[in-house]
Amino acid sequence: MKRIIITIDGWSSCGKSTLAKQLAKALDYLYVDSGAMYRAITLYFLRNHIDWTDKKEVKQALKSINLEFIFNPKNKISEIYLNGENIEYLVRELIIAEKVSDVAAIREVREFAVTQQKKMGVKKGIVMDGRDIGTVVFPKAELKIFMNADNAVRVQRRFKELYEKNPNVTIEEVKDNLEMRDYIDSHRKESPLKKAEDAITLDNTDLTEKQQFVKALAWARERIHPK
Ligand code: C5P
Repeated sequence: MKRIIITIDGWSSCGKSTLAKQLAKALDYLYVDSGAMYRAITLYFLRNHIDWTDKKEVKQALKSINLEFIFNPKNKISEIYLNGENIEYLVRELIIAEKVSDVAAIREVREFAVTQQKKMGVKKGIVMDGRDIGTVVFPKAELKIFMNADNAVRVQRRFKELYEKNPNVTIEEVKDNLEMRDYIDSHRKESPLKKAEDAITLDNTDLTEKQQFVKALAWARERIHPK
């Protein structure tokens, strides 16, 4: 059966990874969370006190970073590892979210991540979500989805997710973080977040997870079995 590449880009917290995981499961494809790679690099920089305004330091630090996704059969998630350590849950914390967009705006960091992402798609049969997947990583992908949802809905969703892990988090913090990341991600010089010309927009403000999945799966099937 023909295997395709599916890219899902869009604003922060609009459900990209939920949809990507659903599609990957239904099609038996590999799911890659490209944001986790930028989060992992940010964690490494913070832990090692890397001054990321210094290009030389960044280049040197990147040489010491090894990122891997390893499938966990218990939760059926490909979890991210930094130099052999499982950091899947650590990278979701707000302290990482506060810095990740600055780190992801650095050209050397993007080159490092994008080179690995492109390799993951060589055999196709992959769903990858992020900000520049349909525009830069896989510009020839067979199906590109660009997701959006109302700001208030996105803030609520992310707040709920973070609050479950840390009840000290406030809705204002979450709102500020989303707005800041969206601004930096869409205004940076290197691969800014934008909709690929051939992407389909999916606004899920009023859609359930099931409804958006049914739509996206139909788009994928149309491309796998063209009439
Ligand atoms: O998707 P997630 O919210 O985990 O991504 C975290 C951050 O990583 C984004 O806000 C963005 O700054 C960066 N990112 C990126 N390009 C991608 C994926 C994520 O710049 N393809």
